[in-house]
Amino acid sequence: MTSSSLNHSPRVRQITQLTLALALLFNLTAISPLLAEDSSTEAGKISVLLVDGQNNHDWKACSPTMINILEATKRFQIERATVPKEAVANFSPDWEKFDVVLTNYNGAPWPEQTRASFEKYIKEGGNLAVVHAADNSFPAWKEYNQMIGLGGWGGRNEKDGPYVYWKDGEFIRDDSPGKGGAHGKPWEYKVVIRDTEHPITKGLPTEFLQAKEELYDRLRGPAENMEILATALATGGSERHEPVLMTISYGKGRVFHTVMGHDAESMRGVAFQETLIRGTEWAATGEVTFPPVTADELPVDRAASRHPDDIKPLK
Ligand code: ZN
Repeated sequence: MTSSSLNHSPRVRQITQLTLALALLFNLTAISPLLAEDSSTEAGKISVLLVDGQNNHDWKACSPTMINILEATKRFQIERATVPKEAVANFSPDWEKFDVVLTNYNGAPWPEQTRASFEKYIKEGGNLAVVHAADNSFPAWKEYNQMIGLGGWGGRNEKDGPYVYWKDGEFIRDDSPGKGGAHGKPWEYKVVIRDTEHPITKGLPTEFLQAKEELYDRLRGPAENMEILATALATGGSERHEPVLMTISYGKGRVFHTVMGHDAESMRGVAFQETLIRGTEWAATGEVTFPPVTADELPVDRAASRHPDDIKPLK
């Protein structure tokens, strides 16, 4: 260091101090939004990105209902990405910020880069929860279909994978030709737990009714690394015991897939609510911290419904 740099004139010192002050001010301004963002996920809460904006179902009513359900538990903090068709080209969320992505999206394909970043996110341990018609989305996106296990409509057929259903005490993979995705008339269908030891279903009654809605049947997909936790008999449809709750592992990622949740009314079904809560928590963390649900709360002789505000917070 030269002596001149050590001996600033008062004016030079003043400018240096001003520069330092400005730099400090600038840095604080630049940092503060980041700090605000980081502290926005409250300690102990699961951060969820809910994606919607296109669906052949009433997503404008369904998404707020799902937000109410999850937020009522005080366990989740939800951000919402609404992606109408005209905004798809610019859809590029920061997936890594979230413990789990909850999709209520059935619409136009995402840009290639967004699909790639999503695949990377899930493969490396990001997580996904898929509700009802979200499994109709992206018929041509191979990796998405790997993630969801089974899907319907959109030209899905035997080229996309087998039908999968429960028969005589085991799951059948049925490669017979035919279209993927159908449903009978809405009714209060009976959900039967087939795996009582999984964290999502352990602590639930082994049979219960879901509120009146259509039941998806004859879905098709790769169905790899998939476990079916619960089925329902598709009376007036395929007449098979169809998958209702599924888990899939994709790379290090966990996927929870429910075919329940046709509209905001059936989302008042305690069956939909309790399985969404438990399934989303499991996808995000690999465990379920919610207490068991009794047969009084989730009965099989009637379809229990409640307003999301009546869901008890997790203590
Ligand atoms: Zn539906």
